[in-house]
Amino acid sequence: MVSNRLTTLAFDADDTLWHNEVYFLLTQKRVEALLAPYCDKTSFNKRLLETERRNIGIYGYGVKGFTLSVIEVAIELSEGKVPATAISEIISGGRDLLAHPLELLPGVEAVLRGLKGYRFVLITKGDLLHQEEKLAASGLGELFDSVHVVSEKNEGTYRRILRDAEHTMMIGNSMRSDIVPALAAGAYATHIPFEIEWELERADDPKGEPRFARIENMAALPQLLAQFS
Ligand SMILES: [Mg+2]
Repeated sequence: MVSNRLTTLAFDADDTLWHNEVYFLLTQKRVEALLAPYCDKTSFNKRLLETERRNIGIYGYGVKGFTLSVIEVAIELSEGKVPATAISEIISGGRDLLAHPLELLPGVEAVLRGLKGYRFVLITKGDLLHQEEKLAASGLGELFDSVHVVSEKNEGTYRRILRDAEHTMMIGNSMRSDIVPALAAGAYATHIPFEIEWELERADDPKGEPRFARIENMAALPQLLAQFS
């Protein structure tokens, strides 16, 4: 990494600060079982991914769009035969997803509270209300100087939000949303992979990019930042 002074740390939220994808997967499994009379799980999961990809531009990211996509797939794959009781269960699964207890990832709270002298920014996608509620439930809200719930995380998003990109490090679990576009906007970007990755968040590692780093977990962040002081 190039040695340079950092003023701002920008964090992704879902699966960087707290658990998220694991709840989606549990709900997906419930729906797989519910739709077993109409389709096998492989075709369900394949069709769901295609439908979510197509619908993101309409619904945006988050639980509500996911729930609508699941309903769409259930109707299509059952050729209209899925009963209202099953649709009702899907809706209730979506509601559970919006209400699950917030669970911070290991080390997050101690590391964030221990880092002094930086401006903290939160940049996350998803349903606005849900993301606001999760931040409130996390107890970390007061640490952030600014919070941005955005519809997409691309280079333009980072250029708009990051006032001082060359002295900012973006930290997140998604190569596609947190790392690649933040680097393109001129920031440093540190990848903390999460064990489960949503197919739509995948991207290749940047090549020959001195501003890119990867650490195993949040606990390794202070040591990485020490190289910049
Ligand atoms: Mg994330």
